[in-house]
Amino acid sequence: MSLPKDGLPAEQVLDEIRALRTADRPTHGGRLFAYVYDPAVPGLDELAMSAYSLAAHVNGLDPTAFPSLLVMENALVGAAAQVLGGPPGVVGSVTSGGTESLLLAVKTARDARPDVDRPRMVAPVTAHAAFAKAAHYLGVALDLIPVDPDSLRPLATDVAAAIGPDTVLVACSAPSYAHGVVDPVAEIAEVAAAAGVRCHVDACFGGWTLPYLRRLGVDVPPFDFAVPGVTSISVDLHKYAYCPKGVSVLLHRDEELRRPQYFGYAGWPGYTMVNPVISSTRSGGPIAAAYAVLRHIGDSGYLALAGRTREAVRGLAAAVSDVDGLRLLAPAETTVVCFTSDGDPDLFVLADELAARGWHTQPQFAFGDLPASIHLTVAAAVAPQVAAFATDLAVAVDAARAAGPVVLPPVDPSAPLPELLAALGLSGGLPERMATVNTLLNAAPPALRERLLIDFLSHLQRP
Ligand SMILES: *Cc1c(COP(=O)(O)O)cnc(C)c1O
Repeated sequence: MSLPKDGLPAEQVLDEIRALRTADRPTHGGRLFAYVYDPAVPGLDELAMSAYSLAAHVNGLDPTAFPSLLVMENALVGAAAQVLGGPPGVVGSVTSGGTESLLLAVKTARDARPDVDRPRMVAPVTAHAAFAKAAHYLGVALDLIPVDPDSLRPLATDVAAAIGPDTVLVACSAPSYAHGVVDPVAEIAEVAAAAGVRCHVDACFGGWTLPYLRRLGVDVPPFDFAVPGVTSISVDLHKYAYCPKGVSVLLHRDEELRRPQYFGYAGWPGYTMVNPVISSTRSGGPIAAAYAVLRHIGDSGYLALAGRTREAVRGLAAAVSDVDGLRLLAPAETTVVCFTSDGDPDLFVLADELAARGWHTQPQFAFGDLPASIHLTVAAAVAPQVAAFATDLAVAVDAARAAGPVVLPPVDPSAPLPELLAALGLSGGLPERMATVNTLLNAAPPALRERLLIDFLSHLQRP
C-alpha cells in the first residue's frame, strides 16, 4: 500500500529510500559520466542540504512575502552575469533547469514579436533537444541547420540563409551537450543582429566552465555577452556550478528584452498572478542551496575545479586516443570527451563492458552523417579516476572485441511494445547489458526511436 493506513516511523521510511537508492547509479565518485556533476568538495553536500532545508517551504510565488528569496535570486542572477561577461543592465531569472530556461528564452522571443503570425526559430541540429520541446510546446517552427561532419559546427552563412521574416530567434550552443563543441557564436550573433533577430546562447552545459577554462589558458572563442548580438544566455547551476538539481539561470542583456517573459493575469477573483517563470508556486530550496554553493566555492574555487576538470578531460582523451580502434569524434576542448569507433570494437558492447567494470558512460546513436558515439560528461571528481579508467578502458575494449558485435534477433522494431520486449527478452525489465537494445534503437529512424522509448517509459511509469 503506497499510502499506509497509519504513518510509519521516520527511520523506517528513510530506510526504505536508502534501500531504493542502492539500485541507482553512483552520483558521486567520478564513475558516472552523465546526469551528475560531482566536484568532490568536502562538506559541500551537507552545506547545500542545510541551506535547502532552511528554505524548502518558502514560496517563490511572491517575493514580497518572502524577500529572502528575492535577495538570493538576484544574487544568483548577478553571479551568472558576472561569470558570463554581463555589462551593467543584464537581468535574469532563476528557473528549475535548462529546459525551462530554453522554453522561456523561446517564449520571450516569440511574444516579443506579436506581429508574426507563424513564428519560427533557427538552430543548429546539434542544439539541445529542449529547443525542439520548446518549439513544440510554444507553436514555433524549428528550422534546423546542419553541422559540418568534421568540425560539428554550423556555418553562420547557413544560419543567415535560414533567417526569414518570421524568424523570432536564432539559437546556438556554447558548448553543445553531445560533443562539447562551441558554435561560432560571434558570427551567428552577427547575422542574427543584422536581421534584427534575437540570439540566444545555450550555455546551460558549459556556461560555468568556459570562462574559467579561458582564464586557465584554453582557447575559448567569444560566446558570452562580450559578443554584441547575443541577447540572452542560459546557464545551468545544477551542472558545473555544482548545485543540487533544480536550478538554472536565464539572462537577458537588458530589462526590455526580458519583458515578454513575464505572465500576468488579473482576470479571476483570486490573487493577481505574476510569474517570470513556468512554475507559479516554487520551492526556495534549490535557490537557497545554490546560493550557499556559489558563495562557498567562490570564484577561485570554480577556477580550481575547472583546472581539475581540464586535467581529467585531457587524461581521458589521451586514454581514448591510445586505444587502437577508438577515436575522438570532436577535440576534447571543453568538458566532454566524445569518441567513436569504426565498428571494431562495437561501441554499445564496449559501453556494457565499461559498465560491468563500474564506469557508466552515455551511448549516443548515429544521426545523419554522424556515427554512434560514447559521451563522457567530465566533472572535477573524475580527476583522481583517470588512471583507473584508462586501465579498464583497454581491458573493456579487449573484452568487447572478444565478445564481437551485437547480432540482432529477428525483430520488427515497429511491432507493438509487448511483442518487441518479448522478442528481445526484456519482458522482465531492463537487462544488465544494453547493447542489443542500443543496437536496435541505433538502427531505427529517429521517429521510431522516439515512439519506442515513449512506449517503454509509459510502460514503466505505472503505479
Ligand atoms: C542539460 C542541457 C540542457 C537542458 O537542461 P536540463 O537541466 O536537463 O533541463 C539544455 N542545453 C544544454 C546544452 C544542456 O547541456
